[in-house]
Formats: sequence, C-alpha cells, structure tokens
Amino acid sequence: MNALIAELYHLAIWLLLLCAIFIPLERLAGVRRQKIFRRDCLIDLGYFVLNSVFVGLLLGVPLILLGAAIHQLIPSTMLAAIAGLPAAARLALALLVGEIGFYWGHRLSHRIPWLWRFHAIHHSAEAIDFLTNTRAHPVDMAFTRMCGFIPVLALGLPGGSTALTALVLVLGTLWGFFVHANLRWRFGVLEHVIATPFFHRWHHTRDTRREGNYAAMFPFIDSLFGTYRRPDQWPDRYGIDTPMPASLALQLLQPFMPSPRRARRRAGVSGPVAQTAKRRSIDTTTGD
Ligand SMILES: [Zn+2]
Ligand SMILES: [Zn+2]
Repeated sequence: MNALIAELYHLAIWLLLLCAIFIPLERLAGVRRQKIFRRDCLIDLGYFVLNSVFVGLLLGVPLILLGAAIHQLIPSTMLAAIAGLPAAARLALALLVGEIGFYWGHRLSHRIPWLWRFHAIHHSAEAIDFLTNTRAHPVDMAFTRMCGFIPVLALGLPGGSTALTALVLVLGTLWGFFVHANLRWRFGVLEHVIATPFFHRWHHTRDTRREGNYAAMFPFIDSLFGTYRRPDQWPDRYGIDTPMPASLALQLLQPFMPSPRRARRRAGVSGPVAQTAKRRSIDTTTGD
C-alpha cells in the first residue's frame, strides 16, 4: 500500500513537471488554439496513471525472460563486440535498435485487426496535445514497448548499466510527450532525422494517410521501410471513424468484446446488405 502511495506521489510530481514544460509552450506556439482541459482530459489522465502503474508490472517478467532467451541465441562474438563499445555508442545503438523494434510493433498494430482494436484507442483522440501520448490501452502500450525493449535487452546493449537503461527510457518517454504536443515548431531538413509534432500528427490524421510515420523518434526508419509521409501542410482532422465509448472503463473493455463483424455472424445476418456492411467493417476496424 505504501509502495502504491509512493508511486502515485512520484507520478503527481512527473505530471506537474510535464505540465510546467508543455502547457506554456503549447499556449505560446500551438498549431491550434484548444482548451487545456479539453473534453477527454480526465480520460487521458486515467490512462496516464493506469499505464504508469501497471504497464511496468505487466512488462517486467516477460521482458526479462524473453530478452534473456533471445540473448542466448546471439553469437557470443557479437555480444562481446557490443559489450566492448563505449557507453555513448551503446546508447545510440540502443535507441536505434529499440526504434526498429517499436516501428514493427506499431506497424503490426495497424495491420493486424485484433491488435488494432487495442491501438485504435490511441488514434481516437480528436484533439491532440502532450497528454495524448498516454492515451493507450495497457495491452497496446505493453505490446509496442515490448517490441522495442526486447531487441535492446537481447543484444545486451544496457550492459548492466542502470544509468544507460534510465537514459533510454527517459529520452524515449520525453520524446513521446514532445511529438504529441500541440506545437507548430518545424525542424527543416532535420525532420528527416528526428521526429517532430508535425511528423507524428500525420500519423493521427483522420484518413488513410495515418498508415505511415510509425517511428517514435527517427523518421528515417519510416523512409527505410517505405512508410514516410511529409505532406506540405498540417492535417486538418484527427481521430477515427469508428465509435469509441465515452468512458475509460468501457474503452478498456471494448477490445475484448466481439467485433461488429463477429456479432453480425453470430446473429446470422447474411446477404448483400451484410456483405456491404462486412466490407465497411474491414475498412474501418483496421488502420487501412
Ligand atoms: Zn498508430
Ligand atoms: Zn500518437
């Protein structure tokens, strides 16, 4: 109980720090004028607490076990070469390898319908600011974080250094809040190298162009795999076209409920009308 109270206390400090950084910046240099306490603010705060407290618990054991199992499969000469690298090179490599793992986990979350059911919650935000970073189902958050961390652990990149592990975590987390921030800053040619709010807002656009810009920090990973998008202007609409429950509890339960397609099948609906509905459902229940 005391541990939970201490955790909540640390979370409150972290949240105050994030608010102190991003709220003034968003007021000064916002892409759009929008309220600080927007409609889904409380729900996003709920995700903030939930994901901060439980995703670590959910991830801890599978991460260590899977990371250690894959570590055994890596040639020892490669592991020795990595262990011999200076700390700065291991940090850069950890960020890069973690990013590639995250990219594929994220891309799969758009392509595989049952993963999209969890990930759609993140894309349901219609007004985006720094707090939207936390709007994710714990299963979605755990899956994409696992895809990022496992290759880093398997390659032994932290090398037992808690400072390096903490730095990767803090950089990745802060950058996640930054790319969601309501900030109109552009980085010129550097936008091909480092992710910005402009880059990530195109991943939240309310049309098929969201099927790109999957990277969290390094857009050149998207260029490498052919999913980089950089239109001339900012997107004008965010969100998804499928309905999302208004409460946090129902949003958490929704991915476990039968999909509309399965519900129709169970109800025995068939014929041309159902076929059309079925096609529409496929179009909107994945990130296509
Ligand atoms: Zn996405
Ligand atoms: Zn996002």
